[in-house]
Amino acid sequence: MLPTSTEDQFPGQNATQKEHQMASIGFIGLGNMGLPMASNLQKAEYKVSGYDVFDTAQQAARSSGLALANSNTDAALNADAVVIMLPNGAIAIQVAKEILPKMTPSSLLIDCSTIDVASAHEVHRLATVAGILCLDAPVSGGVGGATAGSLTFMVGGTNEAFATGEPLFAVMGQKAVHCGDGGTGQAAKICNNMLLGISMIGTCEAFALAEKLGLSQSALFDVVSTSSGSCWSVNTYCPVPGIGPKSPADNAYKSGFSATLMLKDLGLAQQSANDTDAVTPLGSHAKNLYQQMVDAGFGETDFSGMIEFLTDAKDGKI
Ligand code: NAD
Repeated sequence: MLPTSTEDQFPGQNATQKEHQMASIGFIGLGNMGLPMASNLQKAEYKVSGYDVFDTAQQAARSSGLALANSNTDAALNADAVVIMLPNGAIAIQVAKEILPKMTPSSLLIDCSTIDVASAHEVHRLATVAGILCLDAPVSGGVGGATAGSLTFMVGGTNEAFATGEPLFAVMGQKAVHCGDGGTGQAAKICNNMLLGISMIGTCEAFALAEKLGLSQSALFDVVSTSSGSCWSVNTYCPVPGIGPKSPADNAYKSGFSATLMLKDLGLAQQSANDTDAVTPLGSHAKNLYQQMVDAGFGETDFSGMIEFLTDAKDGKI
C-alpha cells in the first residue's frame, strides 16, 4: 500500500518520498498529458507500468523510456494505485470496469481525466462496489504543467483516498485541493473552465474594442492588469501578441490549451447546468462561440486565438 500523508499541502514531501519510492503505479492513457505525468512518477522512483490502447502513444512512451504493460489490466495488476488519463467519461467507465476487478483490494484508483460529473459518480460507485478507494482528480496546467510537474489537482473522494493519493499529486503537481466527496473535483474543473472560457472571450472583446478606439493595447494591459478588470486571461495569458508575459499569442496561437478542449469543457459545464437547472447564460454563449471557432477550422488553435476568430469573422474573412 501507498503510505498516507495527512499533512495539508505536500509538506514533508522529501521525507516521505523515500518511503514510497518502490510503490507500484499503473498508468493508463499515455497521451499528451498522461505520458509526462507517468514519466514524472517514474523519475521519482515509483515503479510505473503504463499502457495506452493507441499504438503510436504506446511507442512514444516506449521511446521515452517509460516501463510498459501489455494491456490495461496488466498495468493495473498488483498496483498500489492506478492513474487513468483518458479522453471522456464513457471511456473512463469502460476502463474502470475492465481494471477494477483485477486491482488489489483497498488499492487506489485516481481518475485524472476531465469527464462529466455523472460519469465521475459512476466510476466512484464501481470502485466502491469493488472495494477500491477512488478519487476524481482532474487537472489544470496543461501539457506544460504535466511536463514540469506543476499541475493543480481538483480532487473529489473520501479523506482516506485523498490522503493515500497525496504523495502522487506531490510528484505530478504543485497543488492538490480536496474539494469534497466523489464528483466534486470534476465539478470544480468545469466551473473553473467555464469561467475561464467566459473571461477569455471578455478579454478578447476588450482588446478588440480598445484597438477600434485608438487606445494602444499595451496601455490597456497596463491599466486592466492592475485594475478591477484584471484576471488570469489578461494578466498571465493575454491574447494579444507582445503584450504581457509570454503566452500562445506570441507563438502564432500554437496550442497550449486548444479551442477543441475548451469546447469540450464548456460542453461538460452546459451538460451539468442542464442536469441541475443552473442559470449559466454566458457559459452557454461561450460554448456557442467556441463551437463556431472549432467549426471554422480553428480547433487546434489555442483558445486565446478567439481574438483572431472574432475579428476575422466580423471582417468576413471566415
Ligand atoms: P490525449 O488524447 O492526448 O490522450 C488520451 C489517451 O488515452 C490517448 O493516447 C488514447 O489512445 C488513450 N486511450 C483512449 N482510450 C483508451 C483505452 N480504452 N485504454 C487505454 N488508453 C486509451 O488527451 P490528453 O490531452 O492527454 O488529455 C487527457 C485528459 O486530460 C482529457 O480528459 C482532457 O480533457 C484532460 N486535459 C487535457 C489538457 C491538455 O492541455 N491536453 C489539460 C487539462 C485536462
